[in-house]
Amino acid sequence: MAEEAAPDAATAAACARCRKPSALCVCAALAPVETRHFTLILQHPQERDEPLGTAWLAHLQLRPSRLVAGLSWPSLTAALGRPASASRWGVFYLGAAAPEGPARAPLTALGRRGAPLADQAAALAALDGIILLDGSWSEAKALWWRNPWLLKARRLVLAPPAPSLYGKLRREPRRDSLATIEAAAFALAALEGDPGLPARILAPFALLLDRYRATQPRRPAPGASPGVANRRRRH
Ligand SMILES: [Zn+2]
Repeated sequence: MAEEAAPDAATAAACARCRKPSALCVCAALAPVETRHFTLILQHPQERDEPLGTAWLAHLQLRPSRLVAGLSWPSLTAALGRPASASRWGVFYLGAAAPEGPARAPLTALGRRGAPLADQAAALAALDGIILLDGSWSEAKALWWRNPWLLKARRLVLAPPAPSLYGKLRREPRRDSLATIEAAAFALAALEGDPGLPARILAPFALLLDRYRATQPRRPAPGASPGVANRRRRH
């Protein structure tokens, strides 16, 4: 890890606004989207320099939103920087699959035992904002367990209406295969009843992936030396 560190060099070469390396700059596609719900992103510290990370993009695209990097905060109020009650916020619950069936809703509120609540409309309407855990599966799990106040938040599970734009670029399985910005976009679209939100929110993410693919050598056959190219921090 030590040889890979060099975060200062990476930051110095990055765009000051979108924080991507200049070859991946997505500022041209940034157009902040106003939402009624607040988006709070808790970012695992090791996720910060990922070239394909989307937490900062989500923060730039969503208003209001806040991104904080760390492992634990004493309360939602501390993470948010202003008084707030966790019971009025939704958090994506790790380890729960969306309920199956023909009436599969894009966003489902769960009770304490993980079962869908009877009155979904009331549970979702009571939310002031959503909390996203940004990191790999294990990083998100660490954030979950280190912040017990998350247990007071309404547990949400997302049934993504579309597969992730990441496609095959992901180098490890993620908790729901969605980028953080995608989870925010789909959840906000469901909460606000606005199916047009994801396309607007995700524009810089789509550009990021286009630019990233353009910097990559032609991809080897599936299964050949996975992830080696992606692990490089400099482009
Ligand atoms: Zn930029």
